[in-house]
Amino acid sequence: MIFADVIVDISVKSLDRPFQYIVPEEMEFDIDIGSVVRIPFGMGNRTMTGYVVGLSGEAKFDVSKTKSILEIMKQGVVVESHLLSLAYWIKENYGSTMNDAIKSVMPVKKEVKEQVKRIIYPAVDMENMKIKRDEFEKKHNSARVRLLDEFLKMNKETYNAGLDYSYIIKKLNLTASVIDGLRKLKIITVDAMQQYRNPVNAVSDTPETRPVLNSGQKHIVDAILNDYITDVRGTYLIHGITGSGKTEVYMNIVEKVVCLGKQVIVLIPEISLTFQMVNRFYKRFGNRISVMHSKLSAGERFDQYTRAKKGEIDVMIGPRSALFTPFENLGLIVIDEEHDTSYQSEMPPKYHAREVAIQRAKMVGASVVLGSATPSVDSYYKALKGEYRLFELNERAGNAVYPKIYIEDLREELKARNYSIFSRKLDELMRDRLEKKEQIMLFLNRRGFAGFVSCRQCGEVVGCPHCSVALKPHMAGDRVSYLMCHYCGYKMPMPDKCPECGSPYISSFGIGTEQVEQMVKKRFSAAKVLRMDADTTTGKNAHQDILKKYSGGDADILIGTQMIVKGHDFANVTLVGILAADLSLNVGDYLAAEKTFQLTTQACGRAGRADKPGEVVIQTYQPEHYSIVCAARNDYKSFYEQEILIREMLQYPPISNILGVLVLSENESSVDNLAKILADKMKLYHDVTVLGPTPAAIAKAKDVYRRMVYGKCTDYKILCSVKNSFEEFMQETESFKDCRLNFEFNCI
Ligand code: ADP
Ligand code: ZN
Ligand code: ZN
Repeated sequence: MIFADVIVDISVKSLDRPFQYIVPEEMEFDIDIGSVVRIPFGMGNRTMTGYVVGLSGEAKFDVSKTKSILEIMKQGVVVESHLLSLAYWIKENYGSTMNDAIKSVMPVKKEVKEQVKRIIYPAVDMENMKIKRDEFEKKHNSARVRLLDEFLKMNKETYNAGLDYSYIIKKLNLTASVIDGLRKLKIITVDAMQQYRNPVNAVSDTPETRPVLNSGQKHIVDAILNDYITDVRGTYLIHGITGSGKTEVYMNIVEKVVCLGKQVIVLIPEISLTFQMVNRFYKRFGNRISVMHSKLSAGERFDQYTRAKKGEIDVMIGPRSALFTPFENLGLIVIDEEHDTSYQSEMPPKYHAREVAIQRAKMVGASVVLGSATPSVDSYYKALKGEYRLFELNERAGNAVYPKIYIEDLREELKARNYSIFSRKLDELMRDRLEKKEQIMLFLNRRGFAGFVSCRQCGEVVGCPHCSVALKPHMAGDRVSYLMCHYCGYKMPMPDKCPECGSPYISSFGIGTEQVEQMVKKRFSAAKVLRMDADTTTGKNAHQDILKKYSGGDADILIGTQMIVKGHDFANVTLVGILAADLSLNVGDYLAAEKTFQLTTQACGRAGRADKPGEVVIQTYQPEHYSIVCAARNDYKSFYEQEILIREMLQYPPISNILGVLVLSENESSVDNLAKILADKMKLYHDVTVLGPTPAAIAKAKDVYRRMVYGKCTDYKILCSVKNSFEEFMQETESFKDCRLNFEFNCI
């Protein structure tokens, strides 16, 4: 007898373990690890869906009391067994139910009916076709004549390739019975073939020109491939400035790995970048590449999933979820812009795609190539420690030069009575570009929007005396009532003047892209303006449309959030304005300086990509902050050295690890009691430094109260065991049935 271990499709911690079921004899051949099954569950006639995570010949319980699987769901998609192990790893390392973990490794959950394409083939040769045609003409059978004429128009080569059924029926205005009649007369045959929905429409008219790799690029490609061919697998970090030719390096490595019969996943940070990356890969790899992302239709996604499984694709490109493409022979995972925050899942399980990629690669014997102009402090730290192999590319590959950069101090503007959002320098350069008909990008750093209080006179941001992060304003109606640190809970009333210089110009900062757009239109009324942000990019092709318009020269100024500075190439952009570079310094988390440096550097990299030199204006209240200064100098190493010192001092990742436990309940006193108990339990671990409990950044959402308890520890495993003990506690205790926990590792 065969038994199956089944995870029930329900995210309740107490049911988060495999249940054993009997596999009925008639299903023995069809069942597999990863199968989706229907099972009886609980009392009465209730049935549930579940995932088979294990098969064995041994009963764990009394067989007479063990229930049987009811059916294998045909609509379900089988999860590869190594992806199931990966799901288990995710559950263990990030804390989630197995069900949620399985869901994350299944980019496609449901089968979508295949699309079938029918083809009409000739069943006789061209001479005989001509004879038949003439016979039908004599009988005034014009519909038949129309179809046969269509065949006779073709040449000898295309004749046997046939005609697309639905296309020709429409074009010639035929009925199905006409086709059927000719088929019965054996003049034609009709054949159905499965047709995949293919979202890749990157049929590019310009053929690829393949640059000769420069010595820096060649060194990297050779080193990584040399490892690969000698069966050494590893993780590599390519630190290369924007435009240094990293993508070219990836493509050369991918090409070779594909030649060895392996498959490759290329992760990119944003859907908006898919088009550009797919285009480049398509030119080199043609139909053997595909894409996977959330804006595809369910059918398109299912078909890419199926094609990948069948080995009809070599390279899958896409954002985070493409990491779980079910390749059977995965050889390489490339993560472009590896520092990007979008690789961090926002929903439980809050996994990091980079870490999961490295784990998946380990399981199947693949390598991982990370690339960035501004590597995450985490990856760079690991590379310097020798965990990853580090490569650097310090020159731009083409002939573009690094732009000229101005740092404009917004406090000085205020002193000069310039109250607008445009510094005098930016205003001057914008007018110049509009005159020359060159393009401008205005970047508004929205990270940390309205999330801090600062002085417009001296630039001081009101921070926590204990944590070196900005205090978060908490609103009462439309005014700020008090400020609070969301790490340690420190609280103070909203000051009415700057604690540093005494100026009354102190307020929570907040301005959106829409206001910027209005101000631009008012000030530069002749300019044509496009805006790209979350609001203007909700449609399926919205990103692509805006970018196409802009690169086609339909607008002079593109205003946008982070999404405009990530990797887009526009030849005619010669001015980039960063409206408030330090906005993101004040978001109140340990990544603030890192994110500010990354965004500023990337924005700088957008100016002057081709033959025209570019200029960048960085506007800021904190012109001396190292993240701004280093970004302006394009000096990653100095930034890293200062940042890692601070991380060491405050024991932030990657030096140490942080586990955030989010306690949720609709009952305020339960949530407070539980948070307190968990903090006390955490304190029993010697090596863990406990912070909190404190209200979460969003202290209450949809009537659910939210509290955080943080634990810092150099050993990740200890934090995992804290997490496990909390999970056990929640299962055993009777007191907190109205509370839930979510876990967050190193992501605040
Ligand atoms: P990155 O990914 O580092 O931003 P890309 O690979 O996109 O850099 O290269 C930037 C530009 O330089 C692209 O237009 C690319 O075609 C070109 N390029 C890359 N490598 C070379 C090379 N060896 N010689 C000439 N041009 C190159
Ligand atoms: Zn001040
Ligand atoms: Zn604090």
